[in-house]
Amino acid sequence: MAEPKIWMNGKLVTQADAVLPVNSAAVFYATNVFEGLRAYWNESDDQLYCFRLDEHFARFRESMKMMRFTVPYSDADLHAAVKETLTGNAFREDIHMHLVAYVAGAGMEATSPTGLYINPRRRGRIAEDSGLRCCISSWARTSDNAIPIRLKCGANYQNGRLAVLQAKADGYDAPIFLNQHGRVAEGTGATFFMIRKGQIVTPPVTSDILESITRTTLIEKLCPEAIGMQVVEREIARTELYVAEEAFFCGSGYEITPITSVDRFPLGDGHVGAITQKLSTAYMNIVRGTDKRYPEWRTPVYPKSAKV
Ligand code: PMP
Repeated sequence: MAEPKIWMNGKLVTQADAVLPVNSAAVFYATNVFEGLRAYWNESDDQLYCFRLDEHFARFRESMKMMRFTVPYSDADLHAAVKETLTGNAFREDIHMHLVAYVAGAGMEATSPTGLYINPRRRGRIAEDSGLRCCISSWARTSDNAIPIRLKCGANYQNGRLAVLQAKADGYDAPIFLNQHGRVAEGTGATFFMIRKGQIVTPPVTSDILESITRTTLIEKLCPEAIGMQVVEREIARTELYVAEEAFFCGSGYEITPITSVDRFPLGDGHVGAITQKLSTAYMNIVRGTDKRYPEWRTPVYPKSAKV
């Protein structure tokens, strides 16, 4: 299978040609912000749908604003770049993309020139059947007053990297972060939800989490409509996880990924929970467009009649 081409500053290039200068702030200080997006192939519609692009672009702008980047792109430019990436590679399959803005100038204070690339890659689903065996990380989530997780910059993921490598070294699949106040925050690249005493609960946006688009999708529409439950947003204590009935991570990359144990305490019967399973199926049908509700969330990539 051909290696996908990368869209970089207006051109599709090979992976070998997608390079950044070593003295750029992007390379030296990880001065970049990004979005992780998925596009889903719908065979019967003969169409590739990107999920919630406008919301990703809005958050991308917020990250660039907080990082004081010079921003030369309109939303129309971003839409065009994503479409060129997907049509230029003639994808007719599910694809994950990283949309990355970076500072090409040198030095700590550089805010320009800003570059843009989109790196598409084939990425499967995560542990949808088996679920993840999680631990509470001994690494704290970075706090809003240090390096805010609301801001989706590459450097933030060093916090996640430390925790995931520690979790794997200790024999777990994935870590769950507590914040500086000892409350549950999120996973490395995903938001956390649990079902406890029949309620579906997730930490508030003030608990040092990314303001996740999947989280919003679940709160506003999917939970009320697919499982008839309103999400409760409140602080969560560590030990609540040990006695939760079910839990899962969610995110554009993680979709709905079940958690089956925390610190080796099995959740429920230790298998993927029924509510999690139902939500996962509902989510996948909506993102792929086999469920036709919420068409405003799906951007079709190909002109209707095109067969590539
Ligand atoms: N938290 C972090 C740290 C993430 O990187 C992600 C993935 N973007 C999420 C949560 C989930 O966010 P979203 O639903 O917008 O993909």
